Amino acid sequence: MVNFQCPYCGVGCGLYLDERGRIKGDFEHPANLGDLCKKPIYFPKVLDKGRIEKPLYRETKGEPFREISWEEAYQILAEKLQSVPSDRVYFYVSGQLLTEDIYVINKFVKGFLKTNNIDANSRLCMATAVTAYKMAFGSDGVPCTYEDIDDADIFFFFGSNAAVSHPVLFKRVLKRRRQTQQVVIVTVDPLETETAKKSDLFIQIRPGTDTAFLNSVLYVLHREGWIDYSFVSKYTEGFEEALKQAQNFPPEVASEICDVKEEDIYVVAKLFAQGKKVISFWCQGFNQSVNGTMKNLALINLHLATGRLNGRGCPFSLTGQPNAMGGREVGYLSNGLPGYRDVRNEKDRRAIEEFWGLEGIKENPGPTITEAVDLILEGKIDLLWVVCTNPAVSLPDLEKVWKALDKVFLVVQDAYFNDTCEFANLILPAAQLGEKEGVMTGSDRTITFCKSFARPFGQSKPDWLIFTELAQRMGGGEYFPYRSPREIFEEFKRTTKGRLCDISRLSYEDLPARWGKRWLYEDLKFPTPSGKARFHPAVLNVPKEEGEFILLTGRLKDQWHTMTRTGKSPELLKGELPPYVIMNPYDAQELGIEEGQEVVLSSKGSKITRVVRFGNVKRGCIFAPFGYPKELGEPTNLLTSDRVDPFSKEPDLKYSGVRVTLYARLSPSSDLPSEPRPSEKVRS
Ligand code: SF4
Repeated sequence: MVNFQCPYCGVGCGLYLDERGRIKGDFEHPANLGDLCKKPIYFPKVLDKGRIEKPLYRETKGEPFREISWEEAYQILAEKLQSVPSDRVYFYVSGQLLTEDIYVINKFVKGFLKTNNIDANSRLCMATAVTAYKMAFGSDGVPCTYEDIDDADIFFFFGSNAAVSHPVLFKRVLKRRRQTQQVVIVTVDPLETETAKKSDLFIQIRPGTDTAFLNSVLYVLHREGWIDYSFVSKYTEGFEEALKQAQNFPPEVASEICDVKEEDIYVVAKLFAQGKKVISFWCQGFNQSVNGTMKNLALINLHLATGRLNGRGCPFSLTGQPNAMGGREVGYLSNGLPGYRDVRNEKDRRAIEEFWGLEGIKENPGPTITEAVDLILEGKIDLLWVVCTNPAVSLPDLEKVWKALDKVFLVVQDAYFNDTCEFANLILPAAQLGEKEGVMTGSDRTITFCKSFARPFGQSKPDWLIFTELAQRMGGGEYFPYRSPREIFEEFKRTTKGRLCDISRLSYEDLPARWGKRWLYEDLKFPTPSGKARFHPAVLNVPKEEGEFILLTGRLKDQWHTMTRTGKSPELLKGELPPYVIMNPYDAQELGIEEGQEVVLSSKGSKITRVVRFGNVKRGCIFAPFGYPKELGEPTNLLTSDRVDPFSKEPDLKYSGVRVTLYARLSPSSDLPSEPRPSEKVRS
């Protein structure tokens, strides 16, 4: 029996491989108590499909790749990195890597190369939640744990289709509802998702307007005398300013902005005020927005205003990826350092410089990934190294991204061939979960040790080993002496000593274990300068977009992100093809479109084709999953804007203006996309 954490969503389910090679849920694991969903069941079957076997190289993009040895690969990399100033190289890593991998990469980049030019795909996922948590609580640790579900009675899902994206967590909420009639589940979303269908109340909000809705709830709480003033005065600051902002949104105003009933605003306020224990979950529907940080803060304001922390409730951001939390601990975003430290803080920099024995960590955060794309196009970045992620499908405004990937010297380090490899100069085969060992941290701060159960495929190597061996060849052997992931873990954990995420006393044998107390702020003392939690005025900002429809994006039910691995399982593809778009039947009828017909979605010169499915999406909006790779259809992110939230720099992937035209009505000469239609791709 080999135990590990699920490599997909951030619930972080504990799994094991049984004697017959089947994946099972681990009953001893606190995140899932034996449960699991469909996605990881097919993991062993897809382990070896479509893998990168050997290092591949070409100096220029037009040439074919040739196989090279690892030694040659390291030589090419060392020469490139030593000949280019460190501010002209950029690293883009992943929340799917193990903590040991990202610790070594972060040390290599920030400590050894002395640049903060590194970002992670968490930028597309939880950067907003991190920013808001830090602003409100002084740290971005999730305040509560999954156990809190088991005695809560009010559950909110804001911009989260947890039934599909975090299924084991959602099943735990449903189990709680079966236990007691007091439980109420409310979903606030523009699309009637599976989560919404299983909720007791579905509030179909106009996209982008959540800040107005939540401000209005605060308005009602105040108007009805439902504010917990004792909590507010003892443990928080900034209430008056937040309330002043909320007063711009009486229910009659907010209901117009959000296109919801005034009564629904009142009901949400009442549930906040009168429920026994209130948990608010949210995910990318909040985070991937130009107004994302404000949405997060407006929701946290409600928890602070009603004292909904610890035993009385919790704001609970759902992490998109299996180890995005480990990434936070290691500090792999452009501003982070290990142990929840920040490059902007001199004490933090000095502490890590001393610990690593490497001076010169830069003070300013590096550019984020969308900024790096612009810098590549401006000729300011020469080398981009992508590890375990697929920006050629997942970043917004893909026409621009593809131009940048084409222009830069691109290193792709991955287990599988993916769309980004098409643009690469150097491809490095990486071992994946099951072939390497290390830890991951799930959404509720539970760390799991992942044992290996297979040899690395072909010549692939663990990501930490690739960076270690390269550093050794670049003269950094004394800083990168690692021979095993255990040695890295032992070093990393020492950086957390005395910090909020202290795991210094844990070893692999103690895992799974959670860092911090069950309630991170159990004593209601917060790591802010005053020790109090902070309200923030939440200012509404809805972007102006051209087009007949607002395009919402999200995940496929049984697939994981850009389908690099799960797309190789026929069982998990069932129901996901051909690539589809959900339209409201009334909107479709007005355009003379029927279910099952193909339509072209277009925006700013880009076009994609999708098959229409009818669903209850807000009038004037359409929903298209983002994960289809090029081989199945033009990626949805050809249509999304690279506008970002100003605080977190997370892209606004859920609000793009598009036109919808029936495929059959377009003239072949100019209006049709160049790619084959989805139905043709599926047939081929
Ligand atoms: Fe994996 Fe998430 Fe499913 Fe759990 S809920 S088994 S972590 S995909």
